[in-house]
Amino acid sequence: MEMLTQLVKLDSGWIPTGEGESLYIRPHMFAIDEYVGVRPSESYLFVIFTCPVGKYYTNELKVKIETEYTRATKGGTGSAKAAGNYGASLFPTQIAKDAGFDQVLWTDSQTHEYFEESGTMNVMFLSGNKVMSPAISDSILDGITRNSVLQVARDWGYEVEERKVSVVEIVELLKAKKLDGAFGVGTAATIAPIRTIHHQGTDYEITKDQSSDFAGRMNTYLDHLKRGIEQDKHHWNHKI
Ligand SMILES: *Cc1c(COP(=O)(O)O)cnc(C)c1O
Repeated sequence: MEMLTQLVKLDSGWIPTGEGESLYIRPHMFAIDEYVGVRPSESYLFVIFTCPVGKYYTNELKVKIETEYTRATKGGTGSAKAAGNYGASLFPTQIAKDAGFDQVLWTDSQTHEYFEESGTMNVMFLSGNKVMSPAISDSILDGITRNSVLQVARDWGYEVEERKVSVVEIVELLKAKKLDGAFGVGTAATIAPIRTIHHQGTDYEITKDQSSDFAGRMNTYLDHLKRGIEQDKHHWNHKI
């Protein structure tokens, strides 16, 4: 945090001030042992890079429920923000893109019956007053955006359920036109509404306006919180 504070002070002139704009901050580290072979490194380079980023525009997503490939397995490293985790996701995502989808909805590696994440984001679903998100496990990354959105949803009076969310359950809601929204949530997009979910040959549309309402309201709220317009009641802001 001390390094980060110093760096952001140094880069403060680069922080854009427009609505939805920000200074992207990406800490990362990699092995630098002068050694060829497979073992944990003894030395690492820790780097934080920053760059100004504009408002993130996203069309409402068209996604496919992935029932063949797996991003992260039980007992694996899927819960870590590790570059290697993206490896397994690239090929299935390319197949989905070639078929006209923006990304895939990942399901569990053992049964493909329960949702895990959406592309490189966490996922949540909205039905009436209920917000459902797959509970964190060793194959789901514990994202800060997911946590923040769920907390704000609770503050707004939504009933939040963190548990296993099954494909069958969501498809039933889609068929009954009772799914009011599905979202990818992560740092870059904050909250990206999903418009179409594909499952076993059928495209299900989420038509209700409530979907864009929830996402729009949440995006504005979190942006205003970051720039001090909203009251920071959970003490999430770190002033430099
Ligand atoms: C980065 C990431 C997320 C979102 O995490 P945030 O902390 O909200 O940015 C979710 N899933 C995966 C696989 C990720 O790599």
